[in-house]
Amino acid sequence: MDFANFGRVSFTSEAKVADFVTYLDQGKVMATRCKQCQASYFPPRVDCSSCFASDMEWFEIKGNGKLITYTEVNYGPSGFEDDAPYILALAEFGDLKILGRLSPDIKPDNIKLGMPLKVTAIKLPDDRVSYQFQPA
Ligand SMILES: [Zn+2]
Repeated sequence: MDFANFGRVSFTSEAKVADFVTYLDQGKVMATRCKQCQASYFPPRVDCSSCFASDMEWFEIKGNGKLITYTEVNYGPSGFEDDAPYILALAEFGDLKILGRLSPDIKPDNIKLGMPLKVTAIKLPDDRVSYQFQPA
């Protein structure tokens, strides 16, 4: 491994991010899994940090996850100021831990640690796509 590999890796990495957005546009929230050691990654990665292989496959995140922790965000990041306040949550889906927003349909009083959640792709104005957690 030298810097030539490093440059190619980062290029591939950007291509994978593009794939991730394409999948979101198709309504799928996808992660990657190492074909060598089965380690899974979200956000998707092209190189396995467990065994250093670059042999990844995509898979859709399905089924119910579980809310681990959350925080209320009162100031949106630049360009997303109008989104605040919203709830940023960390949820566990099997081996994966996913950081994302809770659906605004979930009222703050109804948020409970350990509650079951689904992760779904969403369409935003201006052709943007993202994902969020919904009640399962
Ligand atoms: Zn691996």
